[in-house]
Amino acid sequence: MWKIENTDTIAAISTAVSESGIGVIRISGPDAVEIADRVYRSPGGKKRLAKVETHTIHYGYIVEPDAAVNALQSKPADVIDEVLVSVMRAPRTYTAEDVVEISCHGGVLAVTRVLDAVLKAGARAAQPGEFTKRAYLNGRIDLTEAEAVMDVIESKNRFALQNAVSQVQGTLYRRIEKVRKEMLYQSAHIEACLDDPEALSFESYLPEFSSAVQRWTKELSALLATADSGRLMQEGIRTAIVGKPNAGKSSLMNLLLGEDRAIVTPVAGTTRDVLTETITVGGMTLIVTDTAGIRETDDLVEKIGVQRAKGAIGRADLVLYLIDSSTCIDTEDREILNLIQGKKIIILQNKTDLHTMTDERQIRRMASEAGLGDGIPVLPFSATEKTGLDELVSALRTMFFDGKLSFNDEIVITNARHKELLKRALESLKQLSESIDSQMPEDFYTIDLMSAYEALGEITGQEAGEDLVNEIFSRFCMGK
Ligand code: GDP
Repeated sequence: MWKIENTDTIAAISTAVSESGIGVIRISGPDAVEIADRVYRSPGGKKRLAKVETHTIHYGYIVEPDAAVNALQSKPADVIDEVLVSVMRAPRTYTAEDVVEISCHGGVLAVTRVLDAVLKAGARAAQPGEFTKRAYLNGRIDLTEAEAVMDVIESKNRFALQNAVSQVQGTLYRRIEKVRKEMLYQSAHIEACLDDPEALSFESYLPEFSSAVQRWTKELSALLATADSGRLMQEGIRTAIVGKPNAGKSSLMNLLLGEDRAIVTPVAGTTRDVLTETITVGGMTLIVTDTAGIRETDDLVEKIGVQRAKGAIGRADLVLYLIDSSTCIDTEDREILNLIQGKKIIILQNKTDLHTMTDERQIRRMASEAGLGDGIPVLPFSATEKTGLDELVSALRTMFFDGKLSFNDEIVITNARHKELLKRALESLKQLSESIDSQMPEDFYTIDLMSAYEALGEITGQEAGEDLVNEIFSRFCMGK
């Protein structure tokens, strides 16, 4: 693995810079404790952080660096804030270096002034993600664990969070490394056969090797198969709400949001813009786009809305199609069905609280005539009476997560980079299988085996180059 020597000491504000209860300034590196001592003053003025036990917390003040040196002479005006300072000596720290964390009062001014004092005392301002990058470069965590740290921060729902937390603990890393270890072992064996064909027969070894290749293929395919639901879990299901004007799209959007964000009006064709909101229902995240009433129109503003609606349908993972069941189905509904061909669809038979003019049977017949297949869920719904929501949630679970949404021991691939590398590894294994089947000479095997091995190593970071690592950490937030 590529490594650098970290000789300097870095510092950053690790909490959000806004009005809050507390703010934390983190310092990491060989001089972390010494630098903290330059700005720290204990109530009695005598305590030196350099002398304290590791993993202990100390009450005191942050003062201007010069004032701390002459602790006993410092004036009250030199005091920047009243703080708690945590001193953690390497290696059992976040970065595996000496780390000091100063918890001060929250609020933009206090945290910024404390950071300024720490920088004046000799620390360098950290880059985004630099603490986690150091943890990686110092070998405390692998790349999957580092990336999962970011996923924890960005998790939008509890399942995504659970999965990210599990990956922070190295579950994905261990699964990948187990396969890599086996690959390395097999590769060494092939080399040995090539080196000494008299003593070791590759022929008799081939069945074992071939079954190992199949085992890896199965294992990695199973991981890759989780990637689609993983993306939907982590990023959310892109959902387009479609239906004729007045079908109740804005009402559904408001119901999901639990507040009146879209304008609900009894006049057809008034939802002109496209609204996008991220919401969580039943532990799932939906990125919902409420489209304007889809219909042909001469009105320019509305035309733009219709185009955007078509765009939203194109990008959607799911189309929620609302039908106003208090009116009759007409050609507009058929046009909508044509527009949403090929999508995952849930049809909501809305306004069931009113007199029914269109029932489930008619809806199914229309969908079937449009060639949409018979399996589409058609759910009775009322946006105003708020009925049908539970059925909608369970239909979503069935459709996107096989009905289950508890990722206890399961590892779910949520990262697009991991997904691509798994694909690459599987591609190499496929070529390897083909070489075995067509009885190619054995030195062919090691080439494909090694390229699968390296692709997996890029996931964990064992084979990742400097540029890739820099790019990954540059996406981190400040102070992490
Ligand atoms: P959109 O044009 O599809 O966005 O439809 P709106 O959400 O603006 O709704 C149009 C009208 O239908 C409004 O007057 C809503 O109050 C009404 N509406 C929506 N859903 C229901 C429902 O389930 N039952 C009843 N009775 N009225 C509804």
